[in-house]
Amino acid sequence: MRSLGLDIGATNLKLVVLEGGNVVERRDEPTRSEDGDPASVLRRVATFGRSVGPVDSIGVALPGLFDEAGVAELLPNLYGDWTGVPILEPLEELLGGSVRLINDGHAFALAEATLGAGRGAADAMCIVCGTGIGGGLILRGRLHLGVTGRAGEFGHHTVDENGPECPCGNRGCLELYAGARAIAAAASAPTFEDVVTRARYGDADARRALERAGELIGLAIANVLIFLAAERVVVGGGVTEAGDLILAPLREAIADRARVAPLDRIEVVPAELGPRAGAIGAALFGAQP
Ligand SMILES: [Zn+2]
Repeated sequence: MRSLGLDIGATNLKLVVLEGGNVVERRDEPTRSEDGDPASVLRRVATFGRSVGPVDSIGVALPGLFDEAGVAELLPNLYGDWTGVPILEPLEELLGGSVRLINDGHAFALAEATLGAGRGAADAMCIVCGTGIGGGLILRGRLHLGVTGRAGEFGHHTVDENGPECPCGNRGCLELYAGARAIAAAASAPTFEDVVTRARYGDADARRALERAGELIGLAIANVLIFLAAERVVVGGGVTEAGDLILAPLREAIADRARVAPLDRIEVVPAELGPRAGAIGAALFGAQP
């Protein structure tokens, strides 16, 4: 069985083909959502997907919210006006087969829980911190989708009740402080990668921006963890490539705040599957019966 997984990211389109739990094909290309309208992005996604030849199932991960008919509701990290744009129908037509859509945070969680750092845990909180922040919850070994698939919107956790407005309509969401673009802005650096490089050379502003993001992600994790007491917390995404510059303050914030949780029995671990987790999760989801 060949399962195709596509991940439409803010920066890159990622593709994998899974066969029996192994990645047998992997390809990336730039998303370039700034170069055209949503329809042209979907056409390129489909052309990219068809480039691997015949497959038995197709899953597509999206960076945001869509309704049960596969129409986009909020994809704030892609350029262009995606709200109200049908996604499922044109993709099925262009790809010539049935497609299942999954939120990219859910795809990350499904991939890490099945083949990565969440393997073997009955309950796992999986958080992915990139341009956006998302995640998914595995309860008793199954992905918890929630009503209309809306569980896992970890980036829209309020960390400052009086903070700036978020594209979701709330104020002071975690993503506004700890997403990759937000960290770059806080450190007055052009990109997140520059922040990490500057921090490694000892730049105080860069170190402080990463530390603050780690503290806030840890605070948000602690708030959920005291309620769920999940046995494993998997943290991944591009932001975690800063390593301990972000993970150390994150772990400290969890230890400092989740005091009633059984922290000696809860593991906080880095993700294992790297930037292709979303595409792998999409492939797994598409192949589900
Ligand atoms: Zn928000």
